[in-house]
This record gives sequence, C-alpha cells and structure tokens, in this order.
Amino acid sequence: MTGPDQPLEKSSYEPNPLGPNDVEVEITHTGICHSDLHLIEHEWEVSYPLVPGHEIIGLVKDLGNEVKHLKVGSRVGIGWQRSSCHACNFCLDGEEHYCLKQQATCVGNYGGFATSIRVDSHFAFEIPDELSSEIAAPLLCAGITVFSPFYNHKILATMSVGVCGIGGLGHIALQFAKAFGCQVTAFSSTPQKEKEAKTFGANDFVVSSDNQAMEKKKGSLDFLLVTTSENTNWEELIQLMAPQGILCIVGAPHAKIQLPVMPLIQFDLIVSGSHIGSPTVMKKMLEFSARHRVKPHVEVFPMQEVNGVIQKLKSHQIRYRAVLKN
Ligand code: NAP
Ligand code: ZN
Repeated sequence: MTGPDQPLEKSSYEPNPLGPNDVEVEITHTGICHSDLHLIEHEWEVSYPLVPGHEIIGLVKDLGNEVKHLKVGSRVGIGWQRSSCHACNFCLDGEEHYCLKQQATCVGNYGGFATSIRVDSHFAFEIPDELSSEIAAPLLCAGITVFSPFYNHKILATMSVGVCGIGGLGHIALQFAKAFGCQVTAFSSTPQKEKEAKTFGANDFVVSSDNQAMEKKKGSLDFLLVTTSENTNWEELIQLMAPQGILCIVGAPHAKIQLPVMPLIQFDLIVSGSHIGSPTVMKKMLEFSARHRVKPHVEVFPMQEVNGVIQKLKSHQIRYRAVLKN
C-alpha cells in the first residue's frame, strides 16, 4: 500500500540482509487481523509503503549461522513482534513483548502479505503437527492476545468469564475460556452470532443492546475480556463486574475510555489492558491449542484477492477470521 486510501498492489523489494540470528520464511498463509485493518484505514500511525500481515505461517527457507532451534523446512509461525533487544530487563525476564526496542512485523517493516519474510528467529515459533496452517495462522496474533490475559491473570475454572465482541479475537477467547473450564458468557452486538458463539464455548449469549439481558448479568463477571475494534459503552460493561473482578481490554480502537469511579471503588475492580504475549506464553498457547483442539473458524482466500477480502472485513462479512493463502 503506497499511501492512504490506496488499494494494495503487487510489488517487489529487497529484504534486509539475513543476520546471524535471523530466519527466512517462505510464507504459505497469513491471517488478516483487525490491527491490519486499523493500519490500512490509517486509524493508527503508519509509514508507507505498508505491507500488512502479522499472523504468518510458512516454511523455513534459510537460517543465520547462529540459529540452533530451527531447521530448513520447519513449519513456523510469526506474530505481531519480529524482534527485541535481548539485553534489557524485560527481555532477560522472558517478557520480550515489553521491550522498548521491540519491532513490529508490519509497522516500520514489511509484513506477511508477501511470499517471504526475514525476522529474528526468537520470534518464529514451531507449529505443532495437530494444527493445520490455516487454523494456526490466527493463533499467532488473535490467539496469543486472548490467551495471555487468561494465563497472566491466573483465571480459574470456578470463575465466571465474559467475552465482549465476537470476532477474530473473541471467538478464540470463547474457546480458551471453555477449555479453562469457566462459566462463559458472550456479549455481542450481532444477534445472529448466538448459535456459533455457543458452539465455540459460550454457556450464555447476550445481545449488548438488550437492556433486560444486560441487567440480569449485572455484578456477575469475575473476568471480562473486551475485544471490540470500536469504542464501546464502558459504563455498561463495568456494571457487569463482580467484586474484585478484572475487566481486561485487548481491542484497540483509537479511543479514550470513560468510566464511573464509584463501582471501581465500591467493588475493588481492576481495569487492565493486554498487548500480545511473550514468546514463552506463545509456545504454551500453541501447545494448549493443539491439546484442547482450539480451532479458529477461518475463511481462506488466495493472496491475490486481498483487496476484496479487506472490503468484506470492512462490511463485517467475515466469520470469524480471513486467511490469505499463497
Ligand atoms: P474483528 O474480527 O473485526 O472483530 C471485532 C468485533 O468487534 C466484531 O466482530 C464485533 O463483534 C465487534 N464490533 C465491531 N464494531 C463494533 C461496534 N461499532 N460496536 C461494538 N462492537 C463492535 O477484529 P479482531 O481481529 O478480533 O480485533 C479486535 C480488536 O483487537 C482490534 O481493535 C485489534 O486491533 C485489536 N487487537 C489487539 C491486540 C493486542 O495486542 N491488544 C492484538 C490483536 C488485535 P460483535 O459482532 O460480537 O459485536
Ligand atoms: Zn493482530
């Protein structure tokens, strides 16, 4: 994409030189995350030319001479993060996603709507055999983003969990919540998603515009994951929380949130955010997904159809993740 409001075009570029710790991956599949759409629609800061794509699956084609953990031909996945400094305290603690020198796969670098990519091999993850490539692609961003809060907040099977926004992230979050053994409620602005949300793992489905149904859920949630790509009614969501509940935001509209103070004080609530996840948690998430048969619901399209697929995404026609195939 050469500038705002331009369609994506096919073009060629020279990759960065292959560093000693880098890996070159021949891309077979790339999921389209709503973050790609935020970039394409220049809702986030972006530099051009933009090559979106950060839910990448492919085969290792070449390796730097220091790389020990991968082989040529290994099937790997790459998510939002392509590198970190490996020297700061966050990196040394295994929290590389907080590194201030981290680089994103498709911001300031050319991403996964491509035939090949070179990244730091620490951010290329072997894909378990149980996961097909089209199923695995969305796990590399959507999957890790919704798994990491469950893992970090130590969510228990006894907890009542809500997922607000049943799109790419939300439909995977329902599957994780079920696999964690929780009582699960899906909150959606789209009544037509009820049947599928229940097959993904929701015990209950609430249409967010249904005031009576929302009222019944007041004070019930120990944990609420908000994945909506647009700003939402925060005052209504905070009322859903049980005492000491955690409302965790992962959806990233370019917006400010406004919350009433009283329920936060009265019920000791925690409002938090979460950004992707660390490489260690990524590996745990992939293994967990294989073992619990977590299966993103994907629609696969040839890479050449990318502009049409973006239009479908914009008009909410994708259920629940589009994956491009080379
Ligand atoms: P998506 O597939 O487009 O799903 C977003 C969902 O938000 C929609 O399916 C819809 O669910 C809901 N929604 C859309 N418009 C809405 C509106 N006007 N009001 C209320 N709800 C609305 O997007 P995604 O790929 O899941 O990404 C979701 C968000 O997460 C994006 O903002 C993305 O940038 C962000 N993200 C953050 C991270 C991170 O590290 N924190 C990582 C990846 C993505 P219903 O129909 O069920 O209401
Ligand atoms: Zn993403």
